[in-house]
Amino acid sequence: MKAAVVTKDHTVDIVDKDLRAIKSTEAKVKMEYCGVCHTDLHVKNGDFGEVPGRVLGHEGIGRVVEIGDDVTSLKVGDRVSVAWFFKGCGHCEYCVNGQETFCRSVENAGYTVDGAMAEECIVSADYAVKVPENLDPVKASSITCAGVTTYKAIKVSDIKPGQWIAIFGLGGLGNLALQYAKNVFNAKVIAIDINDEKLKVAKDLGADVVINSKNEDAVKKVKEVTGEGVQATVITAVSKVAFNQAVDIVKAAGKVVAVGLPVETMDLSIPRLVLDGITVEGSLVGTREDLREAFEFAAEKAVDPIVQTRPIEDINDIFQEMQDGKITGRMVIDLAL
Ligand SMILES: [Zn+2]
Ligand SMILES: [Zn+2]
Repeated sequence: MKAAVVTKDHTVDIVDKDLRAIKSTEAKVKMEYCGVCHTDLHVKNGDFGEVPGRVLGHEGIGRVVEIGDDVTSLKVGDRVSVAWFFKGCGHCEYCVNGQETFCRSVENAGYTVDGAMAEECIVSADYAVKVPENLDPVKASSITCAGVTTYKAIKVSDIKPGQWIAIFGLGGLGNLALQYAKNVFNAKVIAIDINDEKLKVAKDLGADVVINSKNEDAVKKVKEVTGEGVQATVITAVSKVAFNQAVDIVKAAGKVVAVGLPVETMDLSIPRLVLDGITVEGSLVGTREDLREAFEFAAEKAVDPIVQTRPIEDINDIFQEMQDGKITGRMVIDLAL
């Protein structure tokens, strides 16, 4: 089968690869689509450790074609997802208390195990979340990572209907964060980016206020609009500047939720933290239950991911476009192209 494999020199080769036989608790999935994520770029570049030979991809959607003898949760023909949270140990404190993405023995698709950017993929059956049949599978690929990540981040922000939330970065993650915040949580949204095109999309998707922080003082503008600041902010931007601005724009007792992953430290004034009682919390993808909920809201059309399909052979071009900041929404590999 055809697969997108990381090479020693940090590029991606499309190779013909044989899949091993499945174990009794596993299923084989014929992949239909796989979204391309900023995390794939980190994996390819060895930013989390070198993984030459690994099949990339953790935004996979496909249909089950074979199940192991002990599988009860899936049947042949089911449409399932292959997500970054591929598998937990199932018995540690994180796995049993609803925080399974922080399991210390977690496996991640397209990083610690072979992923979904291939014609076929082996999944651990109990961990492959089913995709509703009334959800477009191309769009579902975006929900598998960007969607569930932003849905979870908005959940973590504790935002209530009518409150102000600011989203930093309106790319593949941010435009979904905006839609979940508006259409599921009924919040008022301020969209902040340095790219006018992305802000235009945000406006079209219903952002109440858009701010280009390259041309305008974002902190000042947010205070003008909201008075004391926003109740919460979700940062999807891969920029230290955004993290520092986020700390400055939340009101007292507000919450900063970090999703973007610049490999840097942020400035956090301790008096600001203590005297204003702000919270800073990291949010990492989502659990199987979060993903199931995120799929349901997408199937009900509360969110509509912006997607464009490409053949697997385009993968290195897509990474270049990603690095150049040219992508709005999500590029999705169509395994049938
Ligand atoms: Zn991803
Ligand atoms: Zn665990």
